[in-house]
Amino acid sequence: MKVNIYDYSRDALAAYFIALGSPKFRATQIYEAVYRQRITDFTEITNLKKEIRIKMQEDYYFGSLEIVKVSVSADETEKYLYQLPDGNLIETVLMKHDYGYSVCVTTQVGCNMGCLFCASGQVKKIRDLTPGEMVMQVVTIDDVLRKVSKRVSHVVIMGIGEPFDNYDNVLEFIKIINDPKGLAIGSRHITLSTCGVVPKIYEFSAFPLQVNLAISLHFATDEKRNRYMKINKAYNLETLFKALHYYYKKTNRRITIEYILLLGINDSLQDADALMRLVRGLNCYVNLIPYNETGIFKRTDLSQARLFFEYLIKNNINVVTRKEQGHDINAACGQLRIKEMI
Ligand code: SAH
Repeated sequence: MKVNIYDYSRDALAAYFIALGSPKFRATQIYEAVYRQRITDFTEITNLKKEIRIKMQEDYYFGSLEIVKVSVSADETEKYLYQLPDGNLIETVLMKHDYGYSVCVTTQVGCNMGCLFCASGQVKKIRDLTPGEMVMQVVTIDDVLRKVSKRVSHVVIMGIGEPFDNYDNVLEFIKIINDPKGLAIGSRHITLSTCGVVPKIYEFSAFPLQVNLAISLHFATDEKRNRYMKINKAYNLETLFKALHYYYKKTNRRITIEYILLLGINDSLQDADALMRLVRGLNCYVNLIPYNETGIFKRTDLSQARLFFEYLIKNNINVVTRKEQGHDINAACGQLRIKEMI
């Protein structure tokens, strides 16, 4: 059976060529053809011998995603709704920043984490995405940007799904998009966000690429976090922070702590104080995120958000506020997909 070329790292392709008795630099030629020249037909890779082109055509195919819909927001954020070959829908967001273009990638169809404030979890996980299905989310958008001489410069793994619940495929995906002979997205331009799957944080600390790690914390006491994020019942705050300290010690990479401000739920100065005590001593910065209203929860108003922010600053916590994007096109996780499904 043929397999999707986008599922394979250059190392994996090199092993394929070696098994065929070909030199492993063929894998580099393939990567350059696929990711630099954007060739989507093996017969057009003219620097390969004809027999190799034919063999590759027998063994591989070029996967593709069907663009069902693109929604464009007033701030130029674009949301792509893609259909996978099996009919499942996924979404990918393109954000324009002054430093470049970033793509927010989905890792699973649905999500099992069940965080109460997040629209993604309203649909249980149907399946994991393959590395190639994640790569194709980036390539398809990059193809569009190329037409205006731009490129995807950053990737955030913050779409639907829990990346650490699809660990091997997500790491393979990171290797593929980071490959200097391929898309060459710098590891420091890649951010992976997890709700706190602790064993995988330990594993990830041995990953050789300098990828940024973000933690969806959102609540600074076990009592609150248990109520809204069921992952906390498996790995409580003490267990999580032990892993984060370990991760920092191992990698020397500063961690991002994500904190959505939810009106009347986690936005009091008492909450800010608990957060400050929790993150104090960890080399991290706190990212305060305006909530994209998807259901019962409301966003914190600006004046309270400012008090929260200032409390952290006053206590010497590194803190930034995330600029909201795509509010008017429901770019929060899972929203578009849900709208299309009902
Ligand atoms: N499962 C991973 C990645 C996907 S969610 C994780 O939990 O980190 C990416 C980020 O968006 C998380 O911090 C998540 O908590 C947050 N998020 C979910 N719903 C949101 C909403 N409606 N508004 C703002 N942020 C949201």
